[in-house]
Amino acid sequence: MRKNIVAGNWKMNLEYEQGVSLFSEIVNMAKDEVIGAQEVVVCSPAIHLSSIAKLSSGVANVHVGAQNIHQAESGAYTGEISASQVKSVGAEYVILGHSERRAFFKETDALLADKTNAALKHQLNPIFCIGETKEERESGSFFDVIKTQLEAGLFHLSATEFAQVVLAYEPVWAIGTGLTASPEQAQEVHAFIRATVAEKYGEAVADDTSILYGGSCNPSNAESLFSQKDIDGGLIGGASLKSRDFLDIVKVFN
Ligand code: 13P
Repeated sequence: MRKNIVAGNWKMNLEYEQGVSLFSEIVNMAKDEVIGAQEVVVCSPAIHLSSIAKLSSGVANVHVGAQNIHQAESGAYTGEISASQVKSVGAEYVILGHSERRAFFKETDALLADKTNAALKHQLNPIFCIGETKEERESGSFFDVIKTQLEAGLFHLSATEFAQVVLAYEPVWAIGTGLTASPEQAQEVHAFIRATVAEKYGEAVADDTSILYGGSCNPSNAESLFSQKDIDGGLIGGASLKSRDFLDIVKVFN
């Protein structure tokens, strides 16, 4: 059965001490409170990863991840970080294909396929983001856009490899805008994603795939989104920077 996952994406926020202190709060609250989600993941900037991975060790269900990796094994790529380096500090996840990286850093589907391979080679679970822009939503082409992102980024994987991937539907028009997809809009796309996965890998793999929703998700709207049949949790930006808000979203699954 697929897992419920709530993942925080800190993006390029928090200096070192601020990040460690926020993560310590999350871990302490997670120890004291019943956390409903089966996995809680915090994807921090690279500078925090080693420290927060140590703080999470031994805390059931709390994991850490990176926000990006380079596709190469190692070498002369100044400023970049490899999958094995991320893995070596104890991280277990990596966000790939976030719309900010697709838009600002021109990451293509083909590059993301290579990054996915690099992540899987080093036992990092990709949290693979897909989603349409405002124009694509309005023109009605969003199902095609999402299908292409899945096919070109992931469908070269074997079924066993694909089983390591968590998907995140993040409509670009809902990210950081306060505009959330309605539960019905999100469910419609999540069901389409699951059906597309089922066509390629079969019903059993599709049923076991966790599909998270991201885009202005907060403690007030998380419950209506997560109660949808095909929404298995969230990828949380702004609200993951406040420990209480983040934990309240995690606790929706209680
Ligand atoms: P917000 O929750 O701030 O809209 O960001 C969502 C996101 O991009 C998570 O990856």
